Amino acid sequence: MPNRKIPIAILGATGAVGQRMIQLLAGHPWFEIAALTGSDRTVGRPYGELVRWVLDDAPPPEIARMIVQPSENVADVALALSALPTDNAKEIEPLWAAHTAVCSNASTYRMAADVPLLIPEVNPEHLAQIERQRAERGWKGCLITNPNCATITIVMALKPLHDAFGVKTVHAATLQSISGAGYPGVASLDILDNIIPNIANGGEEHKVETEPLKLLGRVVDGHVVDAAIGISAQVTRVPVIDGHTALLSIGFERKPTPEQAIAVLEGWQAPEQVRGLPSSPAQPVIVRREGDRPQPRRDRDAGKGMSATVGRVRECPLLDLRLVALAHNTIRGAAGGALLNAELLVAAGVIS
Ligand code: NAP
Repeated sequence: MPNRKIPIAILGATGAVGQRMIQLLAGHPWFEIAALTGSDRTVGRPYGELVRWVLDDAPPPEIARMIVQPSENVADVALALSALPTDNAKEIEPLWAAHTAVCSNASTYRMAADVPLLIPEVNPEHLAQIERQRAERGWKGCLITNPNCATITIVMALKPLHDAFGVKTVHAATLQSISGAGYPGVASLDILDNIIPNIANGGEEHKVETEPLKLLGRVVDGHVVDAAIGISAQVTRVPVIDGHTALLSIGFERKPTPEQAIAVLEGWQAPEQVRGLPSSPAQPVIVRREGDRPQPRRDRDAGKGMSATVGRVRECPLLDLRLVALAHNTIRGAAGGALLNAELLVAAGVIS
C-alpha cells in the first residue's frame, strides 16, 4: 500500500465510463483524482455544471467543482485512467504514456504487440511487455489496456476452464446492455421493445473473436503468443441498462463433466499478487446453480460489480459444455477493470 495517495487523471471523465471511474474512486485508499479531461464541448467549465450524470447519487462535491482540462494537456500525475473514444485515444494516450502510466479502456492499442491487454486475475504476467514497450517507444510511463466489455465476461469464464481442461473451440452469442454504447448511446426508438444484432459493424464480433486469444496467450521473450482457440461470435444489443450476458458453447481437449467444470470455476482464485488489491473481488467467478440465473438485474452487482457470474453449466449436444456468463460492463468491463489494472501496476512497482 502506498504511504501517500497517488494523484491520478481521468481522461474522458464525462462519459459513461468516466463517470463510473469517478464513482469507484470515491474513498479509494490509494488514488485521488487530481485532473479531469474532456473535449472542446466541456473544457474550462466545472465538471458538476456540464456532466450529464447517469449514475445514482451525484458526483462528489470536490469533483463537481473541478475544472475540466483539455485531454491533450498532460497533467503532472503518476497515473491516468483513460475513457477516451477510440479515435481520440490514438493521438492522446501516447502523449500521456510518454510521461505517466496510462490504463486505457479504448480499443485503439489493445492488440498492439507491445501493449499489455490485461485482466489481473487472468494474465498479470503480461505486464512483462512494459519493459519492451518503454525500450521501443522511449516512454517514461507506459500504456496498458483492459479488454472489450463482452470479452471480459467471456474470458473470466474461460480462463479457469482453459487452465484445467484446455479450451479448443468456443461459440459465443452475446446480449449486451445499452450502457456499453456510452452516453447518449443507442436511440430509444431503436432499442426499446427490440434486439439489435451486430455492434459497431462487425467490430465487436472481431474483438470478441481475437482479444481472448491474446489474453489467454503466453509471454515469450516479451511477446505474447496467442492461445490456439477457435472462437465464433455473434453479438446483440438488448434493452438492459447494465450487464453483458454471453451464451457460450465450449469444446475442450479433455471434456469435463458439468460438476467438474463447476468445481473448477468455483475454486478459481486470483493470483496471490492480485488478491489483496482494493478492487479485487473475493471471488472472481460466482457460480449460480438455479435454472434461471445469471440475470443482469440480479447478478451484475456481484462482488461490487467486479465478479463474473456463471450459470446453466450443462452438457452441450454440439460441443462439450455450455454455460451462461454475465458481468457488469461499465464496472468489471470498463472502469473497474482499468482501476484494478492500475492497482496491479502499483503492486508490481510500475507506479510508485
Ligand atoms: P462516452 O459515454 O461516449 O464518453 C466519451 C468521453 O470522451 C466523454 O467524456 C467525452 O467528453 C470524451 N471525448 C469525446 N470526444 C473527445 C475529444 N475529441 N477529445 C477528448 N475527449 C473527448 O463513451 P464511454 O462509453 O464512456 O466509453 C469510453 C471508452 O471506453 C471508449 O473507448 C469505449 O469504447 C470504451 N469502453 C466502453 C465500455 C462501456 O461499457 N461503455 C466498456 C469498455 C470499453 P465530452 O463529454 O467533453 O465530449
